[in-house]
Amino acid sequence: MKEKTAISFQDIYPLLENFIIPQKKTTQVSLEKATELVLAQNIYSPFNVPSFNNSAMDGWAYSSKDILSEGFTLKEVGSSFAGHPYTGSLNLGECVRIMTGAMLPDEADTVTKQEIITAEGTSIHFPEKVRPNENVRFKGEEFLSGDLVLEAGTLLRSGHISLLASLGIETLTVYKKIRVAFFSTGDELQTFGKPLKAGHIYDSNRYSLQSMLQECGIEFIDLGILCDNADSLKKTLLEIAPKVDAIITSGGVSVGQADLTRLVVNEIGTIQPWYCKIRPGKPLAFGKIGNTYFFGLPGNPTAAQVTFHMIVRFALNLLMGITKPYIPITLARVKSPIRKKAGVTEFQRGRLFFENGSVVVDASGTQKTSALSSMATSNCFILLPEQTQEVESGELVSVLPFYGVCS
Ligand code: AMP
Ligand code: MG
Repeated sequence: MKEKTAISFQDIYPLLENFIIPQKKTTQVSLEKATELVLAQNIYSPFNVPSFNNSAMDGWAYSSKDILSEGFTLKEVGSSFAGHPYTGSLNLGECVRIMTGAMLPDEADTVTKQEIITAEGTSIHFPEKVRPNENVRFKGEEFLSGDLVLEAGTLLRSGHISLLASLGIETLTVYKKIRVAFFSTGDELQTFGKPLKAGHIYDSNRYSLQSMLQECGIEFIDLGILCDNADSLKKTLLEIAPKVDAIITSGGVSVGQADLTRLVVNEIGTIQPWYCKIRPGKPLAFGKIGNTYFFGLPGNPTAAQVTFHMIVRFALNLLMGITKPYIPITLARVKSPIRKKAGVTEFQRGRLFFENGSVVVDASGTQKTSALSSMATSNCFILLPEQTQEVESGELVSVLPFYGVCS
């Protein structure tokens, strides 16, 4: 195998952007089915948004030419409700009663909210300090007809879906979902249903992988557990590779005598000479078998999850066609001091919370990579850069939350 190249964590995403060639097969879907899919077309606004001047408040609409700084009185000549516009014309000195979302008469450009108005029959008194053009959503202020609204390569979430719905877009061209096959390797791994034999453990990585892939909306094929045997590894990999876009394995990529996955993939495909200077997760292997991408996660359960969340997910997002995948990051003050080894980017597991109005993170739980409780009780990774060795309480650190909502 080629000499290994050490890659710093901050260089791994640009490297993956060169390594991964996105899958470009497209399909049509209706808007209701488009969430978590990746847009394969640019979307241009079919009309001006808003398409008519409308009111942002319940109140009265009129022309700003009528405004007097000391206050003024106008005559109410009609009303405009959402969906039922005022159809008459509006002269100076006149106003119409208007509701939120209702169309403004052509001559009106200002709305005053009802809370500050005094009405006596059709005499409407406007106070001082009313400003021209306030409380109006003007035609085309968000998009003009033909403006670019969303770019191909956008991962569609509820915010995009509502925008597309407001434009009346019923069907979309999206990239086909990628398919990922995975299996665990290790003679010590057992499936459920039987008591554990001496020296054996239940296979947890296959379940965490399945769950993480589901969280990304990725279709998968679970190939079960494979023993530490080069022939069966080779056979399985060669059989599945042409049928999927990526293969993810766990275990067997380290330097032990039973670590065969890396060797086998290098024989039937290619293994990149890189290793990423992160902890946990240094053994993570990147490769290709034919046109299929290969990601060999370390067997250590926490390392498998860290490498998936921080590196493999980014690669899969690129493969799905997302142009600019990004992982949300925030800053938080550490509750208790943190120690780490210099020379690697470390992802400690922590709990992020609010305390006295500040965002605080605590990494006081176990950091052992074999301890699954460290992932289950955490809600974020604390990203500690390569050069850092210690962080004192109260210092700011970068934090990557796992979920939008957590318990
Ligand atoms: P390996 O990377 O194969 O050397 O495995 C490193 C450690 O992770 C060992 O303690 C393995 O027993 C454990 N391990 C490997 N695969 C799994 C798995 N699928 N589920 C749980 N633990 C695993
Ligand atoms: Mg193993």
